[in-house]
Amino acid sequence: MARVAVIGSGIGGLSAAIALRAKGFEVDVYDQASELSEIGAGVSLGGSGMRVLDALGLGPAVREASANLHRIEFHHWLSGDIFYQHPMGSWYEQRFGGPFLGIHRADFHQILLSAYGDKPHLGHRCVALRESPDGVDLEFANGSTTHADVVVGADGLRSTVRAHVGEPDEAVFSAMSCFRGLVPVDRVPGGDRFGLTFFLGPGRHLVAYPVRGGELINFVAYVPDPEWTQESWSARCAPEDAVAAFHGWNPVVTTLLANAVETGRWALYDREPLRTWSTGRVTLLGDAAHPMLPHAGQGTNQAIEDAAALATYLESDLPLHEALQRYERLRKPRTRQIQLGSRANATCFQVPDGPPADERNARLQGLPQMVGWIHEYDVYAAMETGSEA
Ligand SMILES: Cc1cc2nc3c(=O)[nH]c(=O)nc-3n(C[C@H](O)[C@H](O)[C@H](O)COP(=O)(O)OP(=O)(O)OC[C@H]3O[C@@H](n4cnc5c(N)ncnc54)[C@H](O)[C@@H]3O)c2cc1C
Repeated sequence: MARVAVIGSGIGGLSAAIALRAKGFEVDVYDQASELSEIGAGVSLGGSGMRVLDALGLGPAVREASANLHRIEFHHWLSGDIFYQHPMGSWYEQRFGGPFLGIHRADFHQILLSAYGDKPHLGHRCVALRESPDGVDLEFANGSTTHADVVVGADGLRSTVRAHVGEPDEAVFSAMSCFRGLVPVDRVPGGDRFGLTFFLGPGRHLVAYPVRGGELINFVAYVPDPEWTQESWSARCAPEDAVAAFHGWNPVVTTLLANAVETGRWALYDREPLRTWSTGRVTLLGDAAHPMLPHAGQGTNQAIEDAAALATYLESDLPLHEALQRYERLRKPRTRQIQLGSRANATCFQVPDGPPADERNARLQGLPQMVGWIHEYDVYAAMETGSEA
């Protein structure tokens, strides 16, 4: 079986490594981080991602570590009035073939690490790739080198592998950043009843949901700010900065922001959809291929779907180059549409009160129909029907 080097041990890289090992590939994972620490807050997992995790045997562990989001609610930023709500929980599971979960990224990462079964090669920042008919030579910043038959670039928004594969491009700054944090549930008014909760207002919005079996409420509070450009998962700020940015909002919002155990601030970037993801032996996966703004909650799900597709095509009888092309053809249209849709969502969430908000709220009544295509997607069925065409 081919030897695969996966660059990046995030959610995408580890999912790919697990899926590839399950098919019998020899896999090594390399990451620039010198240690894997508990950085990050909540991520959401929907039906399409859970279908893959179930197939990989990870469903029970993931469900146990998560919170099942039993309803979705959209609130007015000031009054707190609900202008759209819908059950999720078992309704979602029946409709979309898997649950909708909130999970702490660190908990999820730990589950993936255990399933992978090895330690990734840490302190290995990939700096160069040389591709030949015999394979790919990889160079790392620590001076070490390795050789692989196939390389998967799962190295995130600032991917080095992307620069080898695709046309040169720059990350696109959205002029928006977000405050992120986790709050013990007993410090949030009505916290034990939280599902997937939105507060939408002019020029700002907040999304919150439980993680870790409901012990913690994860929030992400979005503000326009062309000055804050630091794109880092470890950048911290004072909780008061977040409270000040939402001054005058409903007390549920300001209480959430004021009670964060730790507040992070993260500038939001994505990239334009790529025209080419793969060369003869190298391909991209997850944020390296299709970094997206978080407004559709799909970054993690799309990386997991990628992993299932890549492993299936690589295992097929197709020549390597053709297998990578098929993978790319399957994944590109869907992830492109979600990348562009995520951009559009931010604008729609933050329209002013009055007719623009009324129109948005009227459209929200059709939410399950609008987003069904994202959540019901079955990557295995799509490969069988060859729906990339
Ligand atoms: C530390 C961290 C915390 C996060 N926290 C959250 C969160 O709380 N909420 C949320 O919605 N999303 C979070 N994300 C992003 C989210 O995980 C991703 O958007 C999504 O899961 C897709 O994952 P990915 O594996 O494609 O990319 P990422 O999760 O970004 O993983 C990329 C990996 O590649 C490694 N890497 C980068 N460049 C190189 C290189 N040249 N050589 C070797 N390794 C390299 C990075 O160290 C990282 O481990 C976080 C990402 C990271 C890295």
